[in-house]
Order: sequence, then structure tokens, then C-alpha cells
Amino acid sequence: MKTEEEKKLRWRYDEMKQRCYNPNNKSYNNYGGRGITVCDEWRNSFRNFYQWAMQSGFSIELTIDRTDNDGPYAPDNCKWITQSQQMRNTRANITDYKKGTRVCFKCGLKKKLDEFGKDPFKGRFGHRYMCTECRLKYTREYYQKNKEKINKKRRERRRKKCGHG
Ligand SMILES: [Zn+2]
Repeated sequence: MKTEEEKKLRWRYDEMKQRCYNPNNKSYNNYGGRGITVCDEWRNSFRNFYQWAMQSGFSIELTIDRTDNDGPYAPDNCKWITQSQQMRNTRANITDYKKGTRVCFKCGLKKKLDEFGKDPFKGRFGHRYMCTECRLKYTREYYQKNKEKINKKRRERRRKKCGHG
């Protein structure tokens, strides 16, 4: 019979692989999309991952964290931390004022601060930032999708101005 810990680990393991190798995963852009991988040792064997986890202090309430945010999921780059520690790390990784960089949540790339607009995109977990390039693309796509609605509104506004409405 599987223990509770094993079940939870299996879950974490599958999520980790999904983020790195499944382009349809919602987090892919921030992981696989920017070159984050899972080391072969773990990728090919859940047993190996499980053994490492048990030796490195895993318990159910902890989550896996990479020390070097640009590095892979591998034994020498990973540790177990609490959710709240991870939230703090994530926030620190989004904007690095010292280096003057910020991570775009859309393309997952680290870019210079001045490549971002003024207003942060408010996401479910606080502020998220989209680089100018992604924002333009997003706006364009939004317009394409809602063309009819937007144009209708424009026409209505014009009509009112001319006084024919
Ligand atoms: Zn971007």
C-alpha cells in the first residue's frame, strides 16, 4: 500500500515534469519554455526522485524549490521549503531591482525593467508583469477576438457625437 507521502510525492513529480515538458501546461512558459529541465536521473525514474526526497527532508506540507532559478530540477539544485517561503522567493525572482531585471509572466523571459509598462497585471497571486512586446501582442489578439464588439462601440460613439443617435 502506498503511503500518504508517496502519493503526494508522485503528484509533485508529475507536476514537475508537466511544467517542463508539456507545452500545453499552463506553467510551461515559465519552466520548459525557458529551458528548465528535469535531470535524467529523476526524469527516467520516480524511484530515484522518491529516494532523494526522503533523504533530503521531504514532508507533506513542503514544496520543491530550485536554488538557482535558471537551473534544472536536480539533486544539487533542489530543496524542500514551505509554501510561504516559496511565495517570497517567487516574488523576489519576479523583479530584481539590483540587476534591474524583471520576469515577464507571459513569455517567461527575464528582461530589463524599462521593457515593462507602468501598470502591473494583477494576477491571482498578486502582481504579474507583462513585457511591452507581450502586452502589444495581447492587445492585438484581444482586438482581433473582439473586433465586432469594439467597432460597434466605436460606431455608436461616433453617432452620438454627430447627433444622429
Ligand atoms: Zn513577455
